[in-house]
Amino acid sequence: MRRALVAGNWKMNGSRASAAALVDGVKSGSKGLERVDIALCPPFVFLPDVHGALAGSRIRLGAQDVSLHASGAYTGEISPAMLKEVGCSYVIIGHSERRTYHGETDQQVAGKMVAVNGQGLVPIVCVGETLGERESGATEQVVGRQLDALLIDDGCFAALRNSVVAYEPVWAIGTGKTATPEQAQDVHRFIRARIAKRDATLAARIAILYGGSVKADNAAELFAKPDIDGGLIGGASLKAEEFLAICRAANAK
Ligand code: PEP
Repeated sequence: MRRALVAGNWKMNGSRASAAALVDGVKSGSKGLERVDIALCPPFVFLPDVHGALAGSRIRLGAQDVSLHASGAYTGEISPAMLKEVGCSYVIIGHSERRTYHGETDQQVAGKMVAVNGQGLVPIVCVGETLGERESGATEQVVGRQLDALLIDDGCFAALRNSVVAYEPVWAIGTGKTATPEQAQDVHRFIRARIAKRDATLAARIAILYGGSVKADNAAELFAKPDIDGGLIGGASLKAEEFLAICRAANAK
């Protein structure tokens, strides 16, 4: 039985004050949600504050990205060990905004997954196709390629064992256009089957989240699909009530 996970990706939004208010709202509204794991991924600079504010709750802290490197002359970068030190449990890796705006490659994403796992943190590895790729029928080819980079050798595969995968169709992120539950389920099933070719036991237990304009009013039908184990939530994670409604939908799965 896979546990549901709902992770809020705040992206580059908020202030110390708004972050504190948001954590407060999510923390008090999530009491009693025992069947879903919840994570909040604020901007790097708010991680220590949010970690402190989450004390005494079951909500975990996550980061939105990480360096591929352990330490050294990498100006502006943050290492996996630093994220661990400030209390992170999860790290989002390979988000399409990182792949698109920062040119992250499949190989870098795989390297980050291994680096994060080496610190005992759980990578949330994002995969997904663009609108053009979907319209040209290349969804499985693209997602398959992104996944294969995570399966390529024993080191990667060992890290994938302790990871979460997030299917995030790029055309659905921040656009208000959600994949239909059937479209999402088709790709989630494909992802699980691809992993099963390497290890059926892992495929059966790995959590695969859906992300892309999940809202309070569409979460339940997405989470009702058999291969969707929760969500990676962008815009809707910035409003405590909306985010909590999504968490409740996952809790009811
Ligand atoms: C995301 O950026 O991971 C995301 C899913 O964003 P949104 O929910 O706003 O589409």
